[in-house]
Amino acid sequence: MPRIAGIDAWRVRVPLRSVFRISYAETAYADTVFVRVRLDDGVEGYGEACPSLHVTGETIDSVLSYVGLVANSLKGLDPVSELSKILAKIHGVEGFSAARAGLEMAVLDAASKSLGLSLAEYLGGPMRSRVYTDYTISLASPSEMAEEARRVVEKGFRVLKLKLGGPVEEDIRRVEAVREAVGSSIRLRVDANQAWSRREAVKAVSRLEEYDVELVEQPTPYWCIDCLEEVSRHSRIPVAADESAKSLREVVSLAARGVVDVINIKLMKIGGPLQAATALRVLERLGIDAMLGCMVETRLGITPAAMLAYVSEAARFIDLDSPLFLAEEPVEGGVEYGEGGLLRLPGGGRKGIGARPLKTP
Ligand SMILES: [Mg+2]
Repeated sequence: MPRIAGIDAWRVRVPLRSVFRISYAETAYADTVFVRVRLDDGVEGYGEACPSLHVTGETIDSVLSYVGLVANSLKGLDPVSELSKILAKIHGVEGFSAARAGLEMAVLDAASKSLGLSLAEYLGGPMRSRVYTDYTISLASPSEMAEEARRVVEKGFRVLKLKLGGPVEEDIRRVEAVREAVGSSIRLRVDANQAWSRREAVKAVSRLEEYDVELVEQPTPYWCIDCLEEVSRHSRIPVAADESAKSLREVVSLAARGVVDVINIKLMKIGGPLQAATALRVLERLGIDAMLGCMVETRLGITPAAMLAYVSEAARFIDLDSPLFLAEEPVEGGVEYGEGGLLRLPGGGRKGIGARPLKTP
């Protein structure tokens, strides 16, 4: 079987159609890294490593430096038959989760191409027939969010995720304005991105019931698991953990404690598609729902996540919309968005992830 001949990585910066804002950050770009694994028979595997300083503690530079550190140790290994050896080297540290995700993705892209499989087939699927993503409304004033929500619903989306950021009274006005703008048939979920204190969150969840909100994500600071537990206990709306559950270890421990109803799994937090697939199996076993979410990523990172959404029964909440925010397209192939946010996996017998950078160094 072919062996790894080389690995390289480069920065990719894509402007967004408009500034994307959440409670503790805003950005006008998708700032990310593409990773390439070259095999000695000419096959190339690609992955994306999209760091988030606030969530994964990484920067573009730290991603590039970790990929460089690991690259040499993977040379000469066969991604099909020596995968466990490769994974042990990639995941030998706790940090660098986005860098590890990009490396794992690129290795799996190469391995599934070598086997003549799509990554979805390699992961054991697809087994669901239709998966829809929500559309995220960036944090803004109540009237701006309502206007954006109306525009998105006109384009056919049926599920919206509203970014909230406190104060609670203003957040309630945001949800009220959006609900009024889109009517009762649109599903609304909210993400406070840690903006509320424990007391504010308990108050917010009871106020939000009135607007038929289906999910409240990360209401309180990531380090306070007790807060999540208390909010959950007081809430009739299901509560999801995102920043409180990053690594596989954190996901499993939170799930085992039964603290929340839903856990948001992101490839960049957990370290790649196989780590995520493991987490999804654990959640399914424990009867906890998963959200599949993302950073501000391109189609290269979103496509394997979309494939996981098609493979897992636990992935009930899908939030894989970031390629729609990009003002330019840096990727050829990959997931396509159909009517109402339908995720269409790459067809035409494409192998691996089925997406590749338009430009390579
Ligand atoms: Mg979130």
